[in-house]
Amino acid sequence: MDFTLTDEQRNFREYAREFLDREVVAHRAAWDRAEAVDTAVVPKLGEMGFFGLTIPEEYGGLGGDYRTYCIGMEELGRADSAVRGIVSVSMGLVGKVILSHGTEEQKRHWLPGIATGEVLACFGLTEPDTGSDAGNLRTKARRDGDEYVLNGQKMFITNATLAGLCLVFARTGGPGPKGVSAFLVPTGTPGFHTREVKGKLGLRGQATGEIFLTDVRVPASALLGAEGEGFTIAMHSLDKGRVSVGAGCVGIIEGCLEAVVGYAGQRHQFGRPLASFQLIQDMIADISVERDAARLLVWRAAELIERGLPFGVAASKAKYFASEAAVRAANSAIQIFGGYGYLDEYPVQKYLRDARVMTLYEGTSQIQKLLIGRAETGVSAFL
Ligand code: FAD
Repeated sequence: MDFTLTDEQRNFREYAREFLDREVVAHRAAWDRAEAVDTAVVPKLGEMGFFGLTIPEEYGGLGGDYRTYCIGMEELGRADSAVRGIVSVSMGLVGKVILSHGTEEQKRHWLPGIATGEVLACFGLTEPDTGSDAGNLRTKARRDGDEYVLNGQKMFITNATLAGLCLVFARTGGPGPKGVSAFLVPTGTPGFHTREVKGKLGLRGQATGEIFLTDVRVPASALLGAEGEGFTIAMHSLDKGRVSVGAGCVGIIEGCLEAVVGYAGQRHQFGRPLASFQLIQDMIADISVERDAARLLVWRAAELIERGLPFGVAASKAKYFASEAAVRAANSAIQIFGGYGYLDEYPVQKYLRDARVMTLYEGTSQIQKLLIGRAETGVSAFL
């Protein structure tokens, strides 16, 4: 595997960083305090091409490779994970699954808007009583002539209150994963309501919401894939999403490393810069090694996707390691900043709060380990 970046990929990183420093980093603390990202940034992200990175040009995207996508997610993670989530859920979890499982009509209808950020999408899998055990979800979709009627509730849905499209997973058949189907539901459909979830530890600027579906009628053409394929579609989408979360975590670690190197160089104690103390260098060295290891795991998974090879377990390993490493890195970063690390004047406390959810969503660390354990032993821990 070749890990050298092409000139195009290097230029994209520079270009993205310069844009994000100006349009996101400069505002992230204020957005975090206000518990709302200023959505005026969304069209700007669209113009920069973030929403269309891996969507083919014929559907309005840039048709980029997966490594470039990871670089974009890394830079977004370094800048503000709340903003990365807006992009990676809309384009990554929903746009790409429409691309892989949608009909030509569904692709032409939804992808151009998603690829430019004009339409934000959300991914409605989790419910109040089913998170890790998503195959047992309870939202129902009943066929009624040429329509389906959806009833149920979703919880913790990123972009819920901003989105124009929701990919809703609902039960059309019997119990368990095989009874689940996927639907492309415009959020303006009568009976579709949202309520914002406030008071999060991190990702405070990101719109997270509950969704209430009451007799929501969609045409039969809103079904994505065939009836009963919904759970497979969800898992396929999450496998790729985990690469994006992993890349975002590399960005968090990178941001922590930059912050501690800068601070430890200029802060003096005992007449010497913090950077000269070996116990401080010990923490910086660990952050640096884990940044590299996480990036290599993420890029390996991206390379497998690019080559059309099985990548699910590699994605689980990348997401598991990168998210846990991001929490460790941000925790050490606060230690190096001392009391100042506890203030929101510096970015490291936000990195820790944002990193904390990465070990929970898109499959908790325990779920990633069960997937990796199943691949190693051939024995499934899932019922
Ligand atoms: P539970 O499944 O109840 O798990 C609780 C604990 O038990 C965890 O530690 C878990 O690892 C452990 N556990 C569960 N099962 C097992 C097992 N078999 N073996 C060992 N341990 C186990 N969902 C969406 O559908 N769309 C979104 O856009 C979305 N965005 C989110 C944004 C945020 C900020 C958050 C917090 C969540 C989001 N989620 C979203 C939901 C997220 O994916 C779930 O929270 C996650 O899957 C865990 O589910 P749960 O919270 O119900 O925890």
